[in-house]
Amino acid sequence: MLSWTIGDVTITSIPESVTPTSPRFMYADLTKEGVLARAEAAPWLRPHFVTDDGYLLQTIQCLIIDNGTDRIAVDTCIGNDKERHNELWANLDGPFLDDMAASGYPVESITHVVCTHLHVDHVGWNTRLLDGEWVPTFPNARYLFEAAEFEHWKNEPSLFEDDDVFGDSVAPINAAGLADMVTSDHRVNDQVHFQPTPGHTPGHISVVIESAGQKAIITGDMAHNPMQIADPELSSMFDTDQDAARVTRKRVFPGWADGETLVIGTHFGPPTAGTMRPDGNGYRLEV
Ligand SMILES: [Zn+2]
Repeated sequence: MLSWTIGDVTITSIPESVTPTSPRFMYADLTKEGVLARAEAAPWLRPHFVTDDGYLLQTIQCLIIDNGTDRIAVDTCIGNDKERHNELWANLDGPFLDDMAASGYPVESITHVVCTHLHVDHVGWNTRLLDGEWVPTFPNARYLFEAAEFEHWKNEPSLFEDDDVFGDSVAPINAAGLADMVTSDHRVNDQVHFQPTPGHTPGHISVVIESAGQKAIITGDMAHNPMQIADPELSSMFDTDQDAARVTRKRVFPGWADGETLVIGTHFGPPTAGTMRPDGNGYRLEV
């Protein structure tokens, strides 16, 4: 189990999947040979984030921030029983909730749910299927949605149009009265606040954790793979606005690359976290 301590706060990973992924799935023009060329220029990308045959090692996980009082679940993966266009994500029947409970986090104990953005792989466990209805998985949590992000996806088809992501994983939370609309710099508690990182989606946020002089960041999808740390110009085909995503990386990375802040990549393969330093035209992640 991956877990990190930041002052008085612990951050625990509950993975739903760790999968070697074709680069073309996320970066339209990037071949496996192109990935290996990038790994040649940035050797630290191997073996954790890029395989020897040019695949990307991608995690889908929930990160639970626990300060002893609040238990904040950041991003809720794909979820079970969802009808999805991507057959790897359709009608899952995984042990995610059992894994949460085994890690000390039964669903009733979660006080807040934060979605860095409202894509399919970040909202799935917001709800679960009970007697044919989508009901909130975390009955005692406030679900914090960035207001512009919520408004955008309320009116926009999902990444894959026939997936009703908003309808099965976001709207039922609002209908149940558990949703709070918040700003992109929202403070959740004394240790945890949002940092606006738009571009991947209009209201995308990263999550900052600060305690006892230590600091960590949860990236969300402003970088899908550490290749985007090595080269902040590299945008994903899933970015709503690829140029805005580049601008965001160039704006925030200098502040994160102090060699001390723990950067936890929402989709980065294990060990998932490291510290950043400037390196060439970009940065490197030291794990
Ligand atoms: Zn994602």
